[in-house]
Amino acid sequence: KINFDNASFKDFENIPGLDPYQWAELFNDYSEQLREKGHMNYRFESLSGCGPEIELKVPGKFDQRYVSLVSNDYLGFTQHPKMKAAAIRGIERFGSGAGASPAIGGHFSFHQELEQKIAGFFQRESAIIYTTGYTANSATFQCLLKKEDLAILDMSVHASVYEGCQLTNVKSFPHNNMEALERILQSSKDRYRTRMVIIDGVYSQDGDLAPLDKIVELCRHYDAYLAMDDAHGTGVIGKTGRGVIELYDLYQQVDIITGTFSKALGHIGGYVVASPKLINFLKFQARQHLFSSTSTPASMCILQAIDLIDEEPHWMEKLRENTAYLKNGLLSLGLDIGTSASAIIPVKIGDITRNAEICRLLMDAGVYTNQINYPAVSRKDARIRMSLMATHTQEQLDTVLNAWEWVKAKAGLHAEA
Ligand code: PMP
Repeated sequence: KINFDNASFKDFENIPGLDPYQWAELFNDYSEQLREKGHMNYRFESLSGCGPEIELKVPGKFDQRYVSLVSNDYLGFTQHPKMKAAAIRGIERFGSGAGASPAIGGHFSFHQELEQKIAGFFQRESAIIYTTGYTANSATFQCLLKKEDLAILDMSVHASVYEGCQLTNVKSFPHNNMEALERILQSSKDRYRTRMVIIDGVYSQDGDLAPLDKIVELCRHYDAYLAMDDAHGTGVIGKTGRGVIELYDLYQQVDIITGTFSKALGHIGGYVVASPKLINFLKFQARQHLFSSTSTPASMCILQAIDLIDEEPHWMEKLRENTAYLKNGLLSLGLDIGTSASAIIPVKIGDITRNAEICRLLMDAGVYTNQINYPAVSRKDARIRMSLMATHTQEQLDTVLNAWEWVKAKAGLHAEA
């Protein structure tokens, strides 16, 4: 039997000499071994919903309720009665599906309204929407950046950005390292047709923010375009939830803003906000827009979500209170939560095996989290990741803190782990 101890999912992407069916066979042995060792921690089991408390249906042992810290439904909008009603209204008015790609009859009035509304949300004129945030990134960068160009990526940008940059040259700089970014901007001057710096607003693994003011300054100085994916900042960061762009008041200085409707906005879908000419270009050139059907009429609820951000700001306030409460509790337990400045809170563990063990112990204490391992982060950066919701109650957060206190004692966890 092969020992897969040092393997990761990434090693199975391409194995020289074997065909994809053989990769799949090997991968099945690997995942079975992970499961036997308890490293899978019930990933991909079906859950009973995406609320702050869930039921996990694992026969026998774990058929019980857990406080859930795995959802990006930050404001709890997926369960909001007005959101459900708006989705139902959309379906009743237009039907259950869009029936076509935008170019051949799938672009409905609510799609148009949504494009205008999301652009206006960021104080800009134009937007294009996609069926997911992943597609918004992969389609846009694939369409704009070719082999004469250079994409300059913060190493921690989302996988969909990397996918979008497969047709172009890529240089990446260590996460949030401005000296390294400047070195790339300097050394690549006059060598490419277009240079585009691509960052996230809020980073999905650390929960920290991009230093947008410094990046805008560098891009201006070195004449590079700037694109920012603020999937995790929208609805969460900034006084009125416009994200990192609001925090720095740099609405007009980011050339391309991308994001998703699947997190704070409580549905699914993606968007790109940019100048009217660039958006028009994407509408005719982005293959995923031309050749793939548009989002379903249920996405009319996103119009409602954007209104709710302004009409019911108490959800954002509650999320911030919850985040502060949990962070303070974790810090007073002496746990290392890194540089988080959002509703994503990692607890650094630093070792894959211990990470799996701690994730399991947390479940024993009634708390469902995600263990994040290589290749999502480097091996030494293995961590438990938690994301908070406005709808978590204080009692649920106390359950989480009590669980960590118990796990810390049981697993001998220290801040410097
Ligand atoms: N960007 C970031 C930073 C993300 O974290 C995600 C989702 N995990 C996406 C884009 C993709 O969004 P979606 O789930 O809508 O495809």
